[in-house]
Amino acid sequence: MEFALAEHQRLMLDTARQIGREYGLEYWRDLDRDRRFPAEAWKAICRAGLCGVALPEHHGGAGLGMLDLALVIEALTEGGAGATLAQVFMINPIFGGVALSRFAPDAMRERYLPRIVSGEMNCCMALTEPDAGSNTLEMRSFASRDGDGWRLDGRKIWITAVPDAEKMLVVARTKTVSESTRRTDGISMFFIDVDRAGLTYTPIEKVGTNTLSSSTVFFDGVRIEPHELVGTLHGGWNELLHVLNTERIVTTAGLVGAARLAVRLAAEYGATRKVFGDKPIAAYQGLQFPLARASAEIEAASTLNLKAAWKCDQGLAYGSESNMAKVVAARAANEAIERAMQTHGGMGYAKEFHIERLWRDARLFLFAPVSEEMILNFIAVHDLGMPRGY
Ligand SMILES: Cc1cc2nc3c(=O)[nH]c(=O)nc-3n(C[C@H](O)[C@H](O)[C@H](O)COP(=O)(O)OP(=O)(O)OC[C@H]3O[C@@H](n4cnc5c(N)ncnc54)[C@H](O)[C@@H]3O)c2cc1C
Repeated sequence: MEFALAEHQRLMLDTARQIGREYGLEYWRDLDRDRRFPAEAWKAICRAGLCGVALPEHHGGAGLGMLDLALVIEALTEGGAGATLAQVFMINPIFGGVALSRFAPDAMRERYLPRIVSGEMNCCMALTEPDAGSNTLEMRSFASRDGDGWRLDGRKIWITAVPDAEKMLVVARTKTVSESTRRTDGISMFFIDVDRAGLTYTPIEKVGTNTLSSSTVFFDGVRIEPHELVGTLHGGWNELLHVLNTERIVTTAGLVGAARLAVRLAAEYGATRKVFGDKPIAAYQGLQFPLARASAEIEAASTLNLKAAWKCDQGLAYGSESNMAKVVAARAANEAIERAMQTHGGMGYAKEFHIERLWRDARLFLFAPVSEEMILNFIAVHDLGMPRGY
């Protein structure tokens, strides 16, 4: 077992740290205030080759793996962005990049992967439905046969970055439940234009992650062309799980970066703030211990996440590790940021000190992209062999 970074990783992380600092706290605070997509930061990330780290060289990527990508995201997010920047990696190199590079036909790969890697186009993924929620297999969006292609009807909710995306990875049923042999049968993925007749969306007002919009999406007789199928017709469920498990790795890496950032800000603020004589508040163990504990937990989550990423890169099963890392990281990051806010006292509530943005943004990841409870269900049933209680 080897924990040392390779030379290429050191260089890549230097670049990531530099960009992370360049598009730092003030940049993200302003964007959050203006509710604006981080286009400049994403361009810089793509120009430096960091979007395509885990995508094939043949399509403009670096041909490395999820482990390198996780390291890059940790380094970028701890510079000032926090966890939200990881969501831009979800929509582009994961929902677009992983889905296409693993499962799409050659023509689709060749056409779109270089544009994703270069940052020329953004993607989004429409999976969650209002009436299904965490019970994904209850999805009702249906792509029915229409000549050589399909016609899509249905509704999705909470879809990230739709107005900024050119393409959408849509997951839909292509067989009714009664036609399917199992609930996982009859699910397919398509890569379609956001700007298409019958596809409309409306924004959702929300607490945080304001740089990335959230939308309800309506499909009303949307035409899907035959060449827009990604992966296996009716057999998309297991392919989708691979996309979702790489999404967990990216989520955890962003939470690791956000937690490190919050702890650093708390330590810096606490070292200068004095309220009882000469001793800085950072010297009080009541403030130190929770931050120290959250730091220990976030580093444990990072190590487990890198193990998940390494197993993914080796072609081994990695669903358990990627889920476990995500559940630990989401708790630890929320605790780290909560305690960083406590360390700042009233100033933790002020926009000027950035913690409040990290606090609003990190809360999302206790229930998205998969909730804490659904991960614990998965660990209990899948890893521990306990009976399913729902
Ligand atoms: C800002 C934001 C961005 C998002 N981006 C996207 C996106 O880009 N694409 C996309 O497809 N989706 C996206 N989502 C959706 C997200 O993945 C879901 O919100 C998440 O999976 C939880 O589903 P739900 O909100 O329907 O909660 P529900 O399924 O309604 O669950 C509500 C609560 O009940 C608990 N619960 C449910 N079932 C069980 C059970 N069996 N045992 C124990 N507890 C249970 C849950 O854990 C949760 O705490 C986003 C959501 C948000 C808020």
